[in-house]
Amino acid sequence: MTDTMREYPFFVGGEWRENPDPVMVRSPYDGRPVGLVHQARERDMEDATVAAAVSFAELRTLSSARRSAVLASMADRIEERSEELAAMLVLEAGKTRLNAAAEVRRGALTLRISAEEARRIGGELIDLDWTEETEGRIGILRRFPIGPVLGITPFNFPLNIACHKIGPALAAGNPVILKPASATPVSALLLAEIAEASGIPDGALSVLPCPGSRAEVLVKDDRIAALNFTGSADVGWRLREMAGRKKVILELGGNAAVIVHHDCPDLDYAAARIVAGGFANAGQVCISVQRVLVHEDIYEEMRGMILARVRNLRTGDPDSDQTDVGPLIDDAAAKRAEELVQSAVRDGASPLCGGERRGRILSPAVVTGTSPGMRIEHEEAFAPLITVNPYQSFSEALARANTSTYGLQLGVFTSDINRVMTAFAESRVGGVVINDIPGFRADHMPYGGVKGSGTGKEGPRYAIREMTEEKLLVITRMKGA
Ligand code: NAP
Repeated sequence: MTDTMREYPFFVGGEWRENPDPVMVRSPYDGRPVGLVHQARERDMEDATVAAAVSFAELRTLSSARRSAVLASMADRIEERSEELAAMLVLEAGKTRLNAAAEVRRGALTLRISAEEARRIGGELIDLDWTEETEGRIGILRRFPIGPVLGITPFNFPLNIACHKIGPALAAGNPVILKPASATPVSALLLAEIAEASGIPDGALSVLPCPGSRAEVLVKDDRIAALNFTGSADVGWRLREMAGRKKVILELGGNAAVIVHHDCPDLDYAAARIVAGGFANAGQVCISVQRVLVHEDIYEEMRGMILARVRNLRTGDPDSDQTDVGPLIDDAAAKRAEELVQSAVRDGASPLCGGERRGRILSPAVVTGTSPGMRIEHEEAFAPLITVNPYQSFSEALARANTSTYGLQLGVFTSDINRVMTAFAESRVGGVVINDIPGFRADHMPYGGVKGSGTGKEGPRYAIREMTEEKLLVITRMKGA
């Protein structure tokens, strides 16, 4: 059971703090109070930055065994508290029980992967004796932690994305200051409790709930070595401009496409995956399926299969086992999603089902007859809606998928290896997924977008690369030894 009236202090480098004027966080579904969350102020941010800088001196010399042990212990504790954490994700993020439980499992896994990667950061041995002048020399290239990392996270995966910020940073030996989304700060604060109980060194973690603009002072602070941001493109690219010389990793939005070619080996499977990928988490996933492109020979059949499944989706209270699609995060998001459907219809598209709004719930929508110029295709919907359209040739489908200003992942259903190779070569995305949806993600895989979708990679091994610096040691064998 979640204690709904609990107050949540915030965590500054090992110390729990309160300020006057805490903010009441409410359920996006029914406005139920989630808890009173104390807000960090500029003085707390300064203290968190100093604590991070001081702890870096210790953390950077900590053995990989110690860093790994803290992360593994955090993963254990997430598993022990999984029911409480899942209940909190249902409450504060409006996730269905199924989606919430899946996120908790992924959060533990992300930390377990980080614990493993902490032990194999390694490096490279380089022969330098390529000429007579450089004879007797070798180089050792090693990665060293970069320094305090500022993680900023969005509302849609408040636990697992926090784990993606904290896990790899600590694995590499970097302290972390985490600024969670204002709509969903509580799961990150529970994660801070878990980190504390797992023996994280003092100063190595701060979790600072506050309004976004208040965190800009941290984005600009030169004592912070890296900004690891996940959120919207508008905010992310703006923050990069403010970040000065720090390393910037941006994991931003998308409007992912999936192509279903006529040689797809299993249309029923493709339809099931497309519906799962378009409507899970009420479509509030950066790699949610948004644009479905189907070869004309199988278009009618595929469209029917997708529609039948979408019509079966049940909307409502996320805290019910009967619900497949819960609420959007706030009124503005729900109204915007409804307007995206309406504007497409005004521009000549045809709604096939859904698109009606009841409060913050949008009935799962399928729209056809859309074109790349329409908002419903070129903006990120971040809502339970997909567009479905036919195409004639594979190259036309790829070109249409590529019209997006975003580039996270592309899904292609085909059994032809040449089409696989063409999609891999010609698409402008961070990942191509064959015979599955663009929403496929294993937490250890390299993940991140190109174009407007960001820069840099997530997935602990790859995030560690982003948050470490290479240093070269040149060793000369002197004659006579
Ligand atoms: P958002 O509005 O951009 O907010 C993201 C975070 O940035 C929040 O913590 C927010 O704080 C903070 N923020 C806002 N303005 C700020 C400022 N001026 N300075 C510092 N921090 C600031 O995004 P969202 O609505 O929470 O999340 C949805 C977006 O995230 C979508 O675009 C989605 O595609 C993207 N996303 C991407 C990935 C990926 O891996 N590529 C994964 C998940 C989500 P407040 O909440 O206090 O405003």
